[in-house]
Amino acid sequence: MARAVERAIERRGYLVAEAGTGTGKTLAYLVPAVLSGRRVIVSTATKTLQEQLWQKDIPLLRDACGLEFGAAYLKGRSNYFCLARGEEFARAPTFAAREEAALWPRIEAWARRTETGDRSEIDLPDQFHTWKDLSATSENCLGRECARYEECFVTRARALAAQADVLLVNHHLFFADLAMRTSRAGVEILPEHEVVIFDEAHAVEDVATEYFGLQVSSYRVEELSRDALRAVADRPDLASMMRETTGELRKAGERFFQAVADGLRQGGTPARGRGFGPPPRRRPARREEEEGVKAALTPAVMEGAQRDLARLDESLAGLRELLADAVTPSLSQIARRAGELRVEVAAVTAMKEPSRVYFGEVRGRGVFLRAAPIDVAEELRERLYQRTDTAVFTSATLAAQGRFDFFRRQVGLLPELEVEERRFEGPFDYARQAALVSPEGLPEPNDPGFVRAAAESIRALTAVTGGRAFVLCTSNRNMNAFHEACRDLPYQVLRQGDRPKSRLLDEFRSEPSVLFATASFWEGVDVPGEALSLVIIDRLPFAPPGDPVMSARLRALEEEGRDGFSELQVPAAALALRQGFGRLVRTREDRGLVAVLDRRLVTKGYGRAFLATLPRCPLLRTVEAARRWWLGG
Ligand code: SF4
Repeated sequence: MARAVERAIERRGYLVAEAGTGTGKTLAYLVPAVLSGRRVIVSTATKTLQEQLWQKDIPLLRDACGLEFGAAYLKGRSNYFCLARGEEFARAPTFAAREEAALWPRIEAWARRTETGDRSEIDLPDQFHTWKDLSATSENCLGRECARYEECFVTRARALAAQADVLLVNHHLFFADLAMRTSRAGVEILPEHEVVIFDEAHAVEDVATEYFGLQVSSYRVEELSRDALRAVADRPDLASMMRETTGELRKAGERFFQAVADGLRQGGTPARGRGFGPPPRRRPARREEEEGVKAALTPAVMEGAQRDLARLDESLAGLRELLADAVTPSLSQIARRAGELRVEVAAVTAMKEPSRVYFGEVRGRGVFLRAAPIDVAEELRERLYQRTDTAVFTSATLAAQGRFDFFRRQVGLLPELEVEERRFEGPFDYARQAALVSPEGLPEPNDPGFVRAAAESIRALTAVTGGRAFVLCTSNRNMNAFHEACRDLPYQVLRQGDRPKSRLLDEFRSEPSVLFATASFWEGVDVPGEALSLVIIDRLPFAPPGDPVMSARLRALEEEGRDGFSELQVPAAALALRQGFGRLVRTREDRGLVAVLDRRLVTKGYGRAFLATLPRCPLLRTVEAARRWWLGG
């Protein structure tokens, strides 16, 4: 692999390399990258891998190989403590919850002594709402106009990044930078670079989709109102006017997003009668509470929200006008944000561009409206490949049925481009170390009896391995139902969301356990050894049928006369299944079972595409056969 990366860098070309777990792919690309003498960006999907590269691999190259080079890492701005906002917050701290207030003295002490301001230095809970007030985003950072700009942690991290030969970032930051460079001229986050290496490249399409689009949300309106009030804390002449204006804005935002949320829940049926009082608030059904709602934004969905949209637009215009003559950086920034938000709300709700898919999401307390490109490949060709002639894409899962066509289509690496494709097998002997179980007799996953029957299978399978199992579900609903049905198992029973992820994993490793989880444990989780001997997957991970982005992409393929099911849905789901499978075998000594409770794996013709994408290993059809295989090892 190192030779292939070296060749790609030398000939200024593209390499797509699938490298199984345990191949040592990080060193295989870092060594030629460092030796090339060119400026390289390494981008990962997860912060976990970014941290592993920074803490293990880079020091190893320096110490064990004696290579000398400058390296730095850079995270998104909101990972760093913002001196300006932190100072403002400290004047009158307010917290969403008492537990958060209890952490404040520790944060203050850390903020005084930290050299980097990187949040990962201080062990804060994953969900720590106050962090929003202590960090900045590209929207609310004052940039060069900030009084703390020179000493700012972000400025310092970027200065180090500008000196580095190898810079570590994550895909979010990489594509945020690319989107800004190619839309707002002159705005850049990352330094100039000649080579980019995407590790965990299977996530590139999703992240690019997110950043090449637009997003407005109820949170953005709330934050703008809050920041506007804070910004006039020392301006008594503006305070009362600002209270009134932001009060209006808050109300208009709440009503607008509530009306859209109702429209989305009703699948495009207007949420209210026209002109008869406030919108009726429909209590979300239990399923919606569990999964949230994601649906296409259509004129019908928007119909019930038009009046509130006009009010929101007026309120944003009012805020902008109020601060039109502002001279201080913080006030003119609020005016700019109000103007930008107004333009973006108008663009998303107008739904005019045929190359985009418009959709809305209701998640927890938030409502998000988004416009995303239907064809990311096209955007990548224009924005990435025209500027960067050397790129390496690597991951443990890129090839569907042994081929890269699907991945190349996703990221716009056209057949006419010269792209080297390589697969590097890992050191694991799956035929010996793993077996796939597809228990006979289960109903199809949409059958009303599925959950009960699948729960029985979970009980029987976990008895084979003495717990030590992940049950990976494709929905919160199934996760909760299986968890409920298996609470009395004679092992420690854990569920995603009940505790922070790192604590759940520590507890999982400490004694025989069964962990019920969804997407966030599906990839990037590493539990080597006996602690994880069984991975149960509830159903083939097809994107949900109503997913607006998937639907728009399927329509686009059909318009070209192509078959979206076999060209898009099946390979995407097969690769996702392989990610889940990949949790099982992490070392040469690991041995275990992967059970797929979705009978379509063996009863449908397309099941063959899934089987051909998974590592080759024995296929067992009963729990009894699984027991014999397990005991025979
Ligand atoms: S430059 Fe931005 S991130 Fe840095 S201290 Fe100022 S507002 Fe905060």
